[in-house]
Amino acid sequence: MKHAAERRQVVDLCLALSRKGYFAATGGNLMVRIDDALVAVTPSATDYLTMTPEDVCVLRLRDLARVEGHLRPSVESSLHARVLAARPEVRCSIHTHQPVASACALLGLALDVPPALIGSLGPRVPLAGYAPSGSRWLAGKLARVVSAQANAYLMRNHGVLCCGVDSDAAMRALDDLEQLARTWLSTRIAGEADRRPERREALLRVQASLLANVPHESAVAPAPTPSPSP
Ligand SMILES: [Zn+2]
Repeated sequence: MKHAAERRQVVDLCLALSRKGYFAATGGNLMVRIDDALVAVTPSATDYLTMTPEDVCVLRLRDLARVEGHLRPSVESSLHARVLAARPEVRCSIHTHQPVASACALLGLALDVPPALIGSLGPRVPLAGYAPSGSRWLAGKLARVVSAQANAYLMRNHGVLCCGVDSDAAMRALDDLEQLARTWLSTRIAGEADRRPERREALLRVQASLLANVPHESAVAPAPTPSPSP
């Protein structure tokens, strides 16, 4: 199998993202740069828990022609390709519907980033306008807000995309974006609770549940070590 290391990396990343709850069943997709010309991308509509490296597609970045792999590539290949083409230093791009940041995408607001997270996310998380999933229209809307400073993007009414110079950086950006979104939403809920005493109790319950629901797994947790055979 050609490009085995990158295709194995795509599988491992999908498993880690599934364990974190950022990928669910076939939702979410990612692209890893192989070299200047080629990328490895998740296949379309494939269960990530049973996917093998042979299932991972290798595409030519320039025109997304399939070079390796027997399955159809992700419908969001052009979304990732626009990021990798615009940012030659980026080696990994991940799109998820992760729960809290996607709620911010539904609210349709770009997020300012506190100093502690600027190294990972950049100074601002831009918002790309709405377009249907998998459309070149969506890829074009994202391309309009992609910049060398931003490693995290919200896509209106849809989800998020994070990228990085390697997969660790992209995974860290996903985690940092989720945490930023959690803090931002929690502050908004607290403000709303102060303004609406008649709903205060219910709003504070929502806030407590939001703050309690923090994933504990590290970004690239190793697979569990098998216990020794008896
Ligand atoms: Zn999506």
